[in-house]
Amino acid sequence: MADTDDMRAGEKRVDLAPPADAVLRFIGHIETPFTSRDLCPRQGRIDGPECVLHLAPEWVPALRGIEAYEMVEVLYWLHESRRDLVLQSPKSDGETRGTFALRSPVRPNPIGTAHVRLIRVDGPRVTVRGLDCLNATPLIDLKPDRCAYSPAAPEKPTATG
Ligand code: SAM
Repeated sequence: MADTDDMRAGEKRVDLAPPADAVLRFIGHIETPFTSRDLCPRQGRIDGPECVLHLAPEWVPALRGIEAYEMVEVLYWLHESRRDLVLQSPKSDGETRGTFALRSPVRPNPIGTAHVRLIRVDGPRVTVRGLDCLNATPLIDLKPDRCAYSPAAPEKPTATG
């Protein structure tokens, strides 16, 4: 029986098929100097080593204009993660917390994000600093850190009021 009890006046519902999993399309892979999880930093630093985003050839045109940005947001698939823990006790402090209260790579959909410094773009190779992932981690997406549609910071009050 459809749940209509909590609907408000004017609302309408439709019957939907059960959701299917989304299908990601990897756009390339990431080359880093980190060859084991223990060698990866817990979070990347923008003064960290240079890493290269290798884009698949069909996505190279999608890079047009990205050189204008100093900082870029990178999304990647932490492919060696297990995905079945709801409580975790991180090695760093052993304190047990819920998966969604952590930035652990272990999550139902192991998506990692990082704000990285763009160093150079050379065809399908985008060199950045600030990553924390294993060499050969699949690349999901990249986007400017801030763009024309980002909300501007509110004006600061002046000393004269
Ligand atoms: N910066 C991302 C975030 O906050 O969403 C990821 C943070 S996660 C704490 C980074 C850690 O994930 C690394 O220190 C390493 O232990 C692990 N890791 C890195 N690449 C991975 C991969 N491809 N598969 C599984 N675990 C990975």
